[in-house]
Parts: sequence; structure tokens; C-alpha cells
Amino acid sequence: MVRAFIGLGANLGEAAATVEWAMQQLAGLTATTRVAQSSLYRSVPVDAPGPDYINAVMAIDTDLTAHELLQSLQHIEQVAGRERPCRNAPRTLDLDLLLYGDACLNTPALQVPHPRMWQRAFVLLPLAEIAPDRISAAQLQVVQVQSAVRLSHPGAPEHGVNQVAEVKK
Ligand code: AMP
Repeated sequence: MVRAFIGLGANLGEAAATVEWAMQQLAGLTATTRVAQSSLYRSVPVDAPGPDYINAVMAIDTDLTAHELLQSLQHIEQVAGRERPCRNAPRTLDLDLLLYGDACLNTPALQVPHPRMWQRAFVLLPLAEIAPDRISAAQLQVVQVQSAVRLSHPGAPEHGVNQVAEVKK
């Protein structure tokens, strides 16, 4: 079994429901068990127009290889109706393989750790919530200028009493 971390994002349609649905699909993958899932977060699109994103990170233990897992992620994206009209286009569902154990992979189809994860608050904040041992204070410091707001529950307003992590622009 390998501990893998998946980043989830959606900014079209019922984004929070889609992310929750995707986490159910991930937990149901063959030879895979759910370990932990973060709260939902709301973030502003990076280098792109469109609605705010709903994000989360999920940890699984799996016997799937990294490439098998990537194929499963892409299948789940397709079932959710994802299209890729252009780079950074709004999306019904985006699934990224962030970490696969301690593996470092650099193939045409798959780079792990995900090459852009260390620049994204919407990845690092939920990852730090469920696996603080995988993120250093210095790594969190890098993304402190970005906005990623932890929601108390799916669809909750940003300014609720349970807001515990926000770094304003
Ligand atoms: P995106 O449009 O951001 O979902 O990127 C999808 C493309 O990134 C696919 O062609 C994947 O093969 C590739 N890719 C490379 N590394 C990863 C990764 N760690 N997780 C997800 N997709 C990846």
C-alpha cells in the first residue's frame, strides 16, 4: 500500500457537490482505502477568469500504481463532464496526483510530486490540515499572499464562525 494525496478542484456547476462526489469515487477505487479528507476551501482562480474554485485534498492508501491512479483520476474527471477547451479553463472537476508515497516521477504523462503544488495555497492549506508532517512552515510561507478560505462545511459562507484559515491578498 502507498499513501497518496489527491488535490481536487471545481469551479463550474455544483462545485462543492462535485468535489464531495469525487471524494466518494476516490474512496471506492479498487484496492484503495480512504485515509483522510480535508475541509472544503474556496479560492480565486490563478491566472484565469471564472468563478471561485472549491478545493480539497484527500489522502488514500492504494495498491494502484501511480499511472493506474492517474488513469482513474482522469476517468472520474470525464464522468464529471470535464472538457479541456484551453489551458486553465473553468472546469467541472480537476483531480491532481500531488504525492505518491515518497516517489519522484518525471514521465511525459505524470510528474510527482505535482510540479505546481508548492506554489498553491489551495493545495498546501488543505494538505497541511490532513498531513501537517508533509508541509513545512517555510513552504506555507511561500503561499501566504494567496487567498484560500476554509469553509466550515460544503457551501458554507466564507465569513462563518468556523473560518479558521485565511490569508488575504
Ligand atoms: P490538467 O489540465 O491540469 O488536469 O492537467 C492534465 C495533464 O497533466 C494530463 O495530461 C496529465 O497527464 C498531466 N499530469 C502530469 N502530472 C500530473 C499529476 N501529478 N496529476 C495529474 N495530472 C498530471
